Amino acid sequence: MFKTRLFKFTLMTILAVFLLAACGGKEKETSGEKGKDALQQMKDRGKIIIGVKNDTRLFGLKNPSTGEVEGFDIDIARQLAKEILGDENKVEFKEVTSKTRIPLLNNGDIDAVVATMTITDERKKEVDFTDVYFEAGQSLLVKKGSKIKSIKDLKKGTKVLAVKGSTSTINIREKAPETQVLEFENYAEAFTALKTKQGDALTTDDAILYGMADEDPSYELVGGTFTEEPYGIAVKKGNKTLVDALNKALKNIKDSGKYDEIHDKWIKQ
Ligand code: GLU
Repeated sequence: MFKTRLFKFTLMTILAVFLLAACGGKEKETSGEKGKDALQQMKDRGKIIIGVKNDTRLFGLKNPSTGEVEGFDIDIARQLAKEILGDENKVEFKEVTSKTRIPLLNNGDIDAVVATMTITDERKKEVDFTDVYFEAGQSLLVKKGSKIKSIKDLKKGTKVLAVKGSTSTINIREKAPETQVLEFENYAEAFTALKTKQGDALTTDDAILYGMADEDPSYELVGGTFTEEPYGIAVKKGNKTLVDALNKALKNIKDSGKYDEIHDKWIKQ
């Protein structure tokens, strides 16, 4: 009696283990398939959905008079659509912020992020990146005549403004631990906060800060850069075929001279 029960129990356990193993295997296979399908899905759909900034002058800024987003990242994204889908208009732009870009990607709302996004080891745990397509570095923006001349002046009692979900907030806390960091939802809000004197400096990539100084010349960058911020295009983890297609497209854009044309159009420094 006892022996029969034990036998049944063992049999059930072995069966359960087999079933679980089979499911595990299937799951792995499915996500591999999904990765493969992402590029095909885009082709079937006839457009690529790209997450871009809407508030970052020079990279991705919504023009209120046309309703169109404009900037370096936007032009690069259009060229990617041209390379992959044969038409630079086969792209739909969705707004992302530094905080929302990874969740939107992983929810499947967007196929790729082209939005001033630094490639970091931490982010590589959540998403996959293409090769570097732009090199920036973190810096500081202050009102002209400010006592803050470099990161060394960010002592106790000073306040720095930054954006949630950006590498800038992490870096500044590490490199200027005494300063108080105030975090905002996006760059438009952070710049407004600097103008209304809620902080002594705004910190993010030099490329983004140049856009702000361009908009209001009573502000300037100080102290040079204190980090390296290589930008990459992010896609959902495991989408190897899409990463490969994007890298190929980036290479073609560079080789054809289109990249330099777009760079010179937007980046003056
Ligand atoms: N490149 C930095 C980052 O990826 C700062 C710019 C941004 O917030 O998008 O976090």
